[in-house]
Amino acid sequence: MQIAQSISEGLARNVLAAEVNGQVWDASRPIEEDSNVKLLTWNDDAGKATFWHSSAHLMAEALEALYPGTKFGIGPAIETGFYYDVDFGDQEFSSDHFKQIEDKMLELAKAKEEFIRKPVSKADAIEYFTDKGDEYKLDLIKDLPDGSITFYSQGEFTDLCRGPHIPNTGFVKAIKLMNTAGAYWRGDETRKQLTRIYGVTFPKQNELTEYLRVIEEAKKRDHRKLGKELELFAFSEKVGMGLPLWLPKGTALRERLVNFLQRAQSKAGYEQVITPHIGHKNLYVTSGHYEKYGKDSFQPIKTPQEGEEFFLKPMNCPHHCEIYKTKPRSYKDLPVRYAEFGTVYRYEQSGELHGLTRVRGFTQDDAHLFCRPDQVKEEFMKVIDLVLYVFSALGFEDYTAQISLRDPENKSKYIGSDENWALAESAIMEAAAEKGLNTVVELGEAAFYGPKLDFMVKDALGRKWQLGTIQVDYNLPERFELEYTGSDNLKHRPVMIHRAPFGSLERFVAVLIEHCAGNFPLWLSPDQYIILPISEKFEDYAKNLSDELKNSDIRGLIDFRDEKIGRKIRDAEIKKIPYMLIVGEKEAAEGTISVRKHGTGDLGSLTIEDFKQQLIKETTV
Ligand SMILES: [Zn+2]
Ligand SMILES: [Zn+2]
Repeated sequence: MQIAQSISEGLARNVLAAEVNGQVWDASRPIEEDSNVKLLTWNDDAGKATFWHSSAHLMAEALEALYPGTKFGIGPAIETGFYYDVDFGDQEFSSDHFKQIEDKMLELAKAKEEFIRKPVSKADAIEYFTDKGDEYKLDLIKDLPDGSITFYSQGEFTDLCRGPHIPNTGFVKAIKLMNTAGAYWRGDETRKQLTRIYGVTFPKQNELTEYLRVIEEAKKRDHRKLGKELELFAFSEKVGMGLPLWLPKGTALRERLVNFLQRAQSKAGYEQVITPHIGHKNLYVTSGHYEKYGKDSFQPIKTPQEGEEFFLKPMNCPHHCEIYKTKPRSYKDLPVRYAEFGTVYRYEQSGELHGLTRVRGFTQDDAHLFCRPDQVKEEFMKVIDLVLYVFSALGFEDYTAQISLRDPENKSKYIGSDENWALAESAIMEAAAEKGLNTVVELGEAAFYGPKLDFMVKDALGRKWQLGTIQVDYNLPERFELEYTGSDNLKHRPVMIHRAPFGSLERFVAVLIEHCAGNFPLWLSPDQYIILPISEKFEDYAKNLSDELKNSDIRGLIDFRDEKIGRKIRDAEIKKIPYMLIVGEKEAAEGTISVRKHGTGDLGSLTIEDFKQQLIKETTV
């Protein structure tokens, strides 16, 4: 805190904690040796986490004041906010009490109570919580070595905690308790169920307001809800959990995505391949997947006569390695680029399944590039181009590239030669720089088999999604003994690059639905228009119109229902159909249409020809 104050008062007002030699500390804790120090504010993840964890203490203080005798389990920060597991004993508690607790928390926050750290001996810690009668804290202390225990107090409240915390409760300006859930003590079903109270806090009221707005908007955009309303996909327990059924409109949308990417890939020199949905156990023994994931995946399928064992395909790469091996390769043949919309199956626990984002069967827009080490950079640049082309066509404008490199301190845990790693890492960095990407470099985050680049995309609600991974791999070429003959006439190993701009079609469609709230770009939209005849008299005119649009590859439907025009417009708006074409007396007589655009309103009267031209222009990707 003194360091912050020596820089500026403004900074000191915003410092929540400090990172000291890689550990997060209280900003008030004395630094007793030369150290690397980073001041943490609300803009740092660790700063936010400290803020939210401290808010859990603040909530506990309020609960203790309002419900004397309450016992406390654990109260960590989570991705957004915090929770505390609480035992209210015989006292009644429900979310109806939230307002009262929030008010108490605000009152305590206004008092700007300092968080005071105090090291205690194990004996003193046990004595304190024995007197208090909190068996949960005693259970936690049991496992802590003497000499490592600290208490933190703010106001009247003292908690067992290793910290860190924000300087004082006054930093908390806005509070919202979200919901409650049952939570067994230490996750053990045989032990007591506590009440878990979730909450979130902010240093400014307007940040809370914005947070709550985004939650409401996210509910409206939930792809599971819109997927049903727009008739895109469904799930059936009879078919099996986590196995999506694509309905006609969803299938059409998916096909358009596939065609779009296939066209782009074929221009970029990819070749399509097709491989089976299952593979022999030996394939996955060779690839290493069996050893790593065998036990935790779907169990093998056995043939009745030969006793062979097959697995559902968890990834396409091993199959593509075998395709590479079907003929000898020379350095002149490389790169070879195999693409497949390959459906893969991965076991996920039933509780982990979620709409289209966590499923057990999905289709990757997969491709594997086999190239020489000196081609890695150029291939990376081309893949980046492809990914950016996909993003721009689908309206994703805000993204950063996260580059995962080796841990330079621990090079022995990676497979592949030092020289190749250095080459690939600089190739990725240079490719990203030359393409002008915003990059974040993460040391030590590379897979053991190669560095990678992930695109982190922000959607319309500011939520981050990982899309578009490009991964270098030295492992599979080694395990499958892939080779090419170099210009020196000797055998060399190719480098393999895995890449998937969408990731999986399922997850991508889910993200896309939530990003555009179901208002797909016109070229993807399942129906581009709906003709709304004002009465039965104009049905023939509507049919002629529809035929003419169909001839120009513009797709849509006619609302033949015997309903008032107002009702027809409302229903078309709910279905998010981009264009409504209203036809009545005047239009039929003049050979025109009255055009309404979804979410925009009346565009006035147009001739069919003008409308067609406008759509063709709008759908050119
Ligand atoms: Zn704490
Ligand atoms: Zn792969």
